[in-house]
Amino acid sequence: MKYYSTNGKAPVADLEKAVVKGLAEDRGLYMPETIHHLPKAFIADMPDMSFRDIAYNVASNFFGDDIDEDALQDIVYDTLSFDCPVVKVKDNIYALELFHGPTLAFKDVGARFMARLLRYMLRKGGATDQTVNVLVATSGDTGSAVANGFLGVEGIHVYVLYPKGKVSPIQECQFTTLGQNITAIEVDGVFDDCQSLVKSAFMDEELNRHMKLTSANSINVARFLPQAFYYFNAYARMKALGKADELVMCVPSGNFGNICSALFGHEMGLPIKRFIAANNANDIFYKYLQTGKYEPKASVQTLANAMDVGDPSNFARIINLYSENGKLDETATHKRITSLISGAAYSDDQIRETMRQCFSETGYVLDPHGACGYRALQESLRPGEVGVFCETAHPAKFKEKVDQILGIDIDIPTRLRAFMEGEKQSVAMSKDFADFKSYLLTR
Ligand SMILES: *Cc1c(COP(=O)(O)O)cnc(C)c1O
Repeated sequence: MKYYSTNGKAPVADLEKAVVKGLAEDRGLYMPETIHHLPKAFIADMPDMSFRDIAYNVASNFFGDDIDEDALQDIVYDTLSFDCPVVKVKDNIYALELFHGPTLAFKDVGARFMARLLRYMLRKGGATDQTVNVLVATSGDTGSAVANGFLGVEGIHVYVLYPKGKVSPIQECQFTTLGQNITAIEVDGVFDDCQSLVKSAFMDEELNRHMKLTSANSINVARFLPQAFYYFNAYARMKALGKADELVMCVPSGNFGNICSALFGHEMGLPIKRFIAANNANDIFYKYLQTGKYEPKASVQTLANAMDVGDPSNFARIINLYSENGKLDETATHKRITSLISGAAYSDDQIRETMRQCFSETGYVLDPHGACGYRALQESLRPGEVGVFCETAHPAKFKEKVDQILGIDIDIPTRLRAFMEGEKQSVAMSKDFADFKSYLLTR
C-alpha cells in the first residue's frame, strides 16, 4: 500500500516511511491510496468472531500488503490484550468502553500497535544497530499511552516531554514511574513549549545526524488506523444483540483521530447508519458542519481536557475522505459530510449536568469526555435508532473532578494504583531548545 499526502505536494510513501516520518514533506497527513471494501461475508460473520480476529481481518485489509500474515497477527493479538465491551446504559443507549487497556484510555491501542509495528519494521530492515528515539510532547493522556505502548520494546527509546505542574498526578505517574526505555522530561513551561521543543528537535540537522528521531504523534497512520478495530467490534456485539439495524456511532472528539478511524471503517463497508462528533466548548467542527467554514481558533480549557483542541489535525483527513478523486469542491464535500456526520458541543456546565443526570437515572459513572457523547445521543436519537457512544477514558483518571461533580468516591482500579505507588523519575528541563539539544547530544 502506498500513502499520499492530504496536501498533494509530497511524493507517495510506503508504509515504513509513513510510519517513521509521521507527517509528509509538505506537512500534509498520509492517506492510504485505496480503501478496500471488506467482504460482505466477513461483515456477516463478525458477531461470531472474537475481537482479536475481527481486528486482524481489518488490519490485514490495510497492512496486509506490507506485513507477513503471521507477523501481523502477532502484532494485532499482542496489541489487544484487553477487551472493549459494549455496555447498556439505558434504553437504546450503549457505552463502548475503550478504557480497559494499560493506561485506561483509548489511545492505548494505537500506541501499542505502532510500537509493535515499528519493532517489526526495525527487525526486518536489520537496522537494529541504531536505536530509534521517539519524541512525544504530552498534556497528559498521549504521553502515558505512548510510554506504556513502547515500554520494554528493544531498539526504541521514548522521551516524553510534559509541562511541569500541568498534568494531573495520576497522569504524571503513568509515564514517570516506568523506567527501562522510557525517559520522562519535565519541562519548565506549558504544553506548547514541549511541542515546540519536539518540533525543533526534528528540524535540527546536527541532532538528526547524531540520533535517529521519530514521533508517535496521533496523526501517525499506525496510531490512528488501528482504532477502526473498535467500531467493527462494537458493530459485531450490537449485531449479536439484534440492535445493529440502525446504529448511530457517537465519538467524543478532539483531534478527530478516533472518529476518523470510524469513518475509514464505514468506507470499508461497516454498516453504521450515521455518526455524531461530540465536542466540548471547542466547537470548531460543530461550526463547520453548520456553516461549511472551517475556522480554527485557540483552544479553551474545559473539564474534558483531552478534547481541548482548537485546530483538529485530522480534519484534513475527513475533508480528503469525502472529496471526489482528491479534488476539492467545498460545497459538495460539506454536503457529503453533513449527510453522514452531525455534531454537538457542550459547555462545562452541560457536561456536569449530564454526568449527574446519567448517574442518578442509571447509576452509570460517565467521565467528562464520555458525557459529551452520551448527551449527544440522548438529544438526537430518532425512533428506531440505537446509539453507541465511546467512553474514551476510565472515570478514575479524572477522579477529583468526577468525585466532586457526583458527590461520590470512585474506586481507583488496581492497575492505576500500581502506577501511583511507583517512584517518580524525571529529567528537569528548561523550555530553551539549546538545553534540550545538548541533553540529547549526550545520549
Ligand atoms: C484523546 C482523547 C479524546 C479525543 O480523541 P481524538 O482522537 O483526539 O478525537 C477523547 N477522550 C479522551 C479521554 C482522550 O484521551
